[in-house]
Amino acid sequence: MIYQNTWAFAQAHDERDELNQFRGEFLIPKHHGEDAIYLCGNSLGLQPRSAKQYIQQQLNAWEDNAVEGWFMGNDPWLSYHKQLIPTLADILGAKHAEVTIMNSLTVNVHLLMVSFYKPSNKRYKILMEAGAFPSDQYAVESQVKFHGFEQADAVIEVKPRDGEVTLRTEDILQQIKDNADELALVMFSGINYYTGQFFDLEAIAKAAHEAGAYAGFDLAHAAGNVPVKLHDWNADFACWCSYKYMNSGPGGISGAFVHEKHFNDTTLDRFAGWWGYRHDKRFLMAPGFQPEVGAEGWNVSTAPVLLLTLHKASLDIFERAGGLKKLRAKSEQLTAYFEFLINGINQKVGDDVYRIITPGNAAERGCQLSVVCKNNARAIFNYLADNGVIGDWREPDVIRLSAVPLYNTFADVYKASECLFKALTAVK
Ligand SMILES: *Cc1c(COP(=O)(O)O)cnc(C)c1O
Repeated sequence: MIYQNTWAFAQAHDERDELNQFRGEFLIPKHHGEDAIYLCGNSLGLQPRSAKQYIQQQLNAWEDNAVEGWFMGNDPWLSYHKQLIPTLADILGAKHAEVTIMNSLTVNVHLLMVSFYKPSNKRYKILMEAGAFPSDQYAVESQVKFHGFEQADAVIEVKPRDGEVTLRTEDILQQIKDNADELALVMFSGINYYTGQFFDLEAIAKAAHEAGAYAGFDLAHAAGNVPVKLHDWNADFACWCSYKYMNSGPGGISGAFVHEKHFNDTTLDRFAGWWGYRHDKRFLMAPGFQPEVGAEGWNVSTAPVLLLTLHKASLDIFERAGGLKKLRAKSEQLTAYFEFLINGINQKVGDDVYRIITPGNAAERGCQLSVVCKNNARAIFNYLADNGVIGDWREPDVIRLSAVPLYNTFADVYKASECLFKALTAVK
């Protein structure tokens, strides 16, 4: 596609965009009475307009039925989650039984590591990307300590080459190979939160398995953003949050994937609770834990129905929008257009004032562009915010900007790039 740096081009593109109508299903925050340019779906997705109504329905069910709400009403709480699984399984490329919805993300990282990080004296190391999201670093650090190992010894971080910012797949695979004898687990994020790099998860899972290790993925920045195929790529486990690209509310419920090949493995440890008990016998309240077959066997606690409700409000929009394939097609164009406009600023100025560190190849990124500001980074970020362009800031000089296909427009990225250009002279 040939892009043009004009308002007319951006508008014409929005008019042709068949997903444009879905913007109306979200509540866009205001700036001086006008829609803000919200480019922060990587951190917190916008509220579906329907969310209040979905919540109200469950409050009504609680009011009308009280405890009976678990079993009666239009959608009894006991099976409420089942309505979400097909859409979620589509988004994650999983079989229905491989997906469960529970807890929050870091809690799920821990619970899944209980099952899939089973170090022995010889095979105890975890390989992950350098600069992983801090919560994942802390989770891994505390897990290796819990098993009696030292972080410095047990955690291998794959770093970019000198002078580079993102990782090369060949380097990741080589390090897995080089440490094959000692690796217990390879744990990567799907998309790195800082650079926006989308890793080759299929190749990583394959290399991990060849090394004799498990492969687990944190898809916080990938779920609902880029298509993944957890089942076909043979991931052992994965987890994600729902409040970023899946718009399910601050601190919204998380999800987890366990590959079906592990369903009957009775050697896997797990931290159990009654919500993971086999469903046909859960209410017999008998001693002796017997897990439900499938990912739901990893559940621990009573389903938080109000969080599930918010999740459903958003997933129903994904469903109406025709799923991730359509969204991804628009997303690639939106992001490429944004990249074109930002690079256009550099050309105009004759200097890389805004250097995009996210890979240029569409297959290696999702919605997010991470932009390094050469000068006055923090002041530029503040200028954007003062002018209604909402991105987010990462030390020391990176602004993350994500155009989300469900609610962002070509006009949004056009206006954002205009603002980035004006910031250069407005900020000293
Ligand atoms: C956003 C994010 C988290 C946050 O975890 P919570 O438990 O929901 O606070 C964890 N890991 C990654 C990779 C993230 O991007």
